[in-house]
Amino acid sequence: MIVEDKNKVLEIKIKDQVISQSTFNVIAGPCSVESMEMMQQIVANLDNTMFIRGGAFKPRTSPYSFQGLKEQGIKILSDIKQDYNKLIVSEIMSIDQLALFDDVDIIQIGARNMQNFDLLKAVAKLGKPVLLKRGMGNTIDEFIGSAEYIASSGNDQIILCERGIRTFETQTRFTLDIASIEILKQRTNLPIFIDPSHAAGSYDLVESLSLASVAAGCNGLLIEVHNDPKNALSDADQQITIDKYNKLMVKVNQVYDVVKKG
Ligand code: PEP
Ligand code: MN
Repeated sequence: MIVEDKNKVLEIKIKDQVISQSTFNVIAGPCSVESMEMMQQIVANLDNTMFIRGGAFKPRTSPYSFQGLKEQGIKILSDIKQDYNKLIVSEIMSIDQLALFDDVDIIQIGARNMQNFDLLKAVAKLGKPVLLKRGMGNTIDEFIGSAEYIASSGNDQIILCERGIRTFETQTRFTLDIASIEILKQRTNLPIFIDPSHAAGSYDLVESLSLASVAAGCNGLLIEVHNDPKNALSDADQQITIDKYNKLMVKVNQVYDVVKKG
């Protein structure tokens, strides 16, 4: 298994940024790209954040919910990348969208597509870093198996992202599997990110899940931030304000400083 070869030191380099098992990075931005203006407002006000996320193609539970701005959303992200000199992260949902993802720096495969093996193989062929989310009903072994599909298709530039799994608990949207951080670090050579937003499903839990994840040794966080969370077109309950995000980053960096010293 390529991803389980612990003799290999994997470093994902994008421009001057490095993502690995010994670095820490944050990806932040709204659940969905809703307009150019909202992206400008968010990107201009997030402190020290190079990686900007935003969904253009949205995997919604109901077909009647906002499905994303699609091609236009990707165009907005491309403009943001140019205008603000940022790196962008966005989710691909199907193979027919591949051609649209040329400007996207990290391609996200969502939880619902973790075992869409044809999509994994096709995305791998683009040769760009892939952020692979753990399926809500998938084991760690299955998660690693999916990463191996990408690696064995010629692309070892993979970030694993734990985003909560379904359990009997209903107080949170999903249950964040904190232990997966250490297990995946021990078993693979891939950087491990945590998405506290989708796990929590509620904005007021994002801070504590983020800090716990950093303390547990994750290599990065993916956090949903919105300029006006209450009126967000998707995941309104879990997105944090720009102000909360900037304050959270101060604490995150303090915890990371402690972790780094070992
Ligand atoms: C997302 O990051 O916008 C998303 C849909 O996440 P997940 O695939 O983890 O549900
Ligand atoms: Mn979301």
